[in-house]
Amino acid sequence: MPARTPQQSHPASGIARVAVPSPLRRLFDYLIPANTHVQPGIRVRVPFGSRELTGIIVAIVDQSDIETSQLRPITEVLDHDELIPSHLLDLWLWAANYYQHPVGDALHSLLPAGLRKKSAASIRSHHSDPSQPEITPTDTDIPTPNSQQNEAIRAVNDSSGQFNSFLLDGVTGSGKTEVYLQCIDHILKQDKQAVMLVPEISLTPQTIERFRQRFSAAIAILHSGLTPRQRLNAWLEAASGVARIIIGTRSALFTPMAQPGLIIIDEEHDASFKQQDGFRYSARDLAVLRARHESIPVILGSATPSLESLYNANTGRYRHIQLTQRAGTASMPTFQLVDTRRQLSEAGLSSDLLLATARHLKQGGQVLIFINRRGFAPVLHCEDCGWTSECPSCDARLTVHRKPPHLCCHHCETRQPVPDHCPDCQGKSLGTGGTGTEQCESALATAFPDTPVLRLDRDATRRKGELERILKQINNGEPCILVGTQMIAKGHHLPGVTLVGVLDADNGLFSADFRGQEFMAQMLIQVAGRAGRASQPGEVLIQTSNPEHQSLQTLVHDGYHALARTLLNEREAAAMPPYGYLVIIRAEAVSMAAPQRYLTLARQVINSQIHSQQLNDIEVHGPLPAPMERRANRYRQHLILKSSSRSVLQSLLTPVCQILEGRSESRRVRWSVDVDPLDM
Ligand code: ADP
Ligand code: ZN
Ligand code: ZN
Repeated sequence: MPARTPQQSHPASGIARVAVPSPLRRLFDYLIPANTHVQPGIRVRVPFGSRELTGIIVAIVDQSDIETSQLRPITEVLDHDELIPSHLLDLWLWAANYYQHPVGDALHSLLPAGLRKKSAASIRSHHSDPSQPEITPTDTDIPTPNSQQNEAIRAVNDSSGQFNSFLLDGVTGSGKTEVYLQCIDHILKQDKQAVMLVPEISLTPQTIERFRQRFSAAIAILHSGLTPRQRLNAWLEAASGVARIIIGTRSALFTPMAQPGLIIIDEEHDASFKQQDGFRYSARDLAVLRARHESIPVILGSATPSLESLYNANTGRYRHIQLTQRAGTASMPTFQLVDTRRQLSEAGLSSDLLLATARHLKQGGQVLIFINRRGFAPVLHCEDCGWTSECPSCDARLTVHRKPPHLCCHHCETRQPVPDHCPDCQGKSLGTGGTGTEQCESALATAFPDTPVLRLDRDATRRKGELERILKQINNGEPCILVGTQMIAKGHHLPGVTLVGVLDADNGLFSADFRGQEFMAQMLIQVAGRAGRASQPGEVLIQTSNPEHQSLQTLVHDGYHALARTLLNEREAAAMPPYGYLVIIRAEAVSMAAPQRYLTLARQVINSQIHSQQLNDIEVHGPLPAPMERRANRYRQHLILKSSSRSVLQSLLTPVCQILEGRSESRRVRWSVDVDPLDM
């Protein structure tokens, strides 16, 4: 450990501006001790109040707003070489600023946990398992790209070494991953690195295996299951250039690369790219910015692009590349709507769906039933008095589970035993309402006693290795029925599946959220995309009690892009994203009145800023109760700001957050700012 610098005994040589992990939206100045070399992008230890903390130097300046005699010196320099390259540091700072998050807290949340304290930024090789190239690539059977893939690959390769954003808009199974692989291959041949972000849910051993089989280059994998040491090693291997390919979830975007060459965001429409708590950044939006900073191409890939990305493609900001055909011999599945008002159903399964299931199993196919609700049933109720199982801590109902039997709140995890009589009237006639995965699984097991029924949801895969075990069983190709939540809807390549049944498409149709229909359409197309990915054609049955609904009709008959055009027109008319910009200020507290009182104060601060800066083009709505006002015993309210200009919102928010931060009321609630929120 380097010796500490005795305070005040040496003349200082300049001032370092340091991001310190604190909830304050500001940097702190420290004296640089004489004969000490420091630079932006390294970690230092600094005194902070009575403690000593690890901070990141973001700038070296000559002058401070604070008297030099009042400044305290840096106590220790932790990194002797640049840890965060300047392009990347700029991006980190830009993000903290844009998303209105306290800068020190933001920067620290982007560092791997292993670097947030004092430990040295060095790889301990005996632990460094994720990226070892012990393996030689076995993939000798590389497909020859079709003409659409070729065009995509050529466009990206032609732009290497310069910034360009591509929207790779290709139907499910069109060979987008093959395009990524070939573009990465080109980048590796130029001695550059590539980073690919995938949704948490699709970072499966299958995905990783496909990359390992193709490339002999070292691959660093960054996901939430790593130990801090493994994560740090992967990060440092990317930073030093040892790892040539970096694959990870959202936060992997912030990994330094020694020779950056390409950024890929797979399933760019996926909600997991937006962090939903703490530092609420969008890794997808920042990826485009990072590519610009580093002068490299970025590919946003999806079969169901977000309306934002389609808009950017329409306006020419992104180059739109379409893959309209499935690769190889696979063809697109056919769609059919099943009216659940006309058919008696057992556990939510219509007779059409049961008949189709029998037919596909008989032909040797596998069947996937999608139902986005785990547990046995979403509610327990009393048939005598109408009592329902409410969560004591949330505005929500307790879900009935049978394996093992209990009631559980899916919002706060409260668990209760299943009562054998009604707690209100003591009656014995308790019944369940609605269907969850467990009920669907047992109904199918009864209807098809000779066929294995496999359930894939969070409960069934809690045990480590269970997901892999189930996927392996599916991939042996024998006829089986899969019952799954969104866990099964994304990413997986299930070549044996020929029939997909969607139990209930109605939720998204009537969602209060402005993105409800966009999300519903993406979910339906993604889950449908699991069908018929190999040589057998696929069939998709969508159950609904609103088969005449215009959005469903458009989606099923004219496809995702036709519906996206309609939804974009609606967004334009309402000046909603991507035609307008939103910010939500949220507040929550144990007391019911506090969040509203706080946001009323926030609204006053906002109004006086709008007035003093003479801002126009800003709408303020609220305070309003959040969609589920009480959750985990806290009451939640929000305030919505809307404008057609991002910069107007930014010039309002920066001073508003500073003012709110200084108010004592801010310590009585939990408050946060969500810029470009995904939901309201
Ligand atoms: P996507 O990522 O669009 O869902 P994939 O890249 O996973 O599609 O491709 C789907 C399947 O088609 C994979 O098994 C892949 O190996 C195969 N494939 C991709 N491109 C071709 C091609 N040009 N010719 C034959 N098969 C291909
Ligand atoms: Zn009762
Ligand atoms: Zn609850």
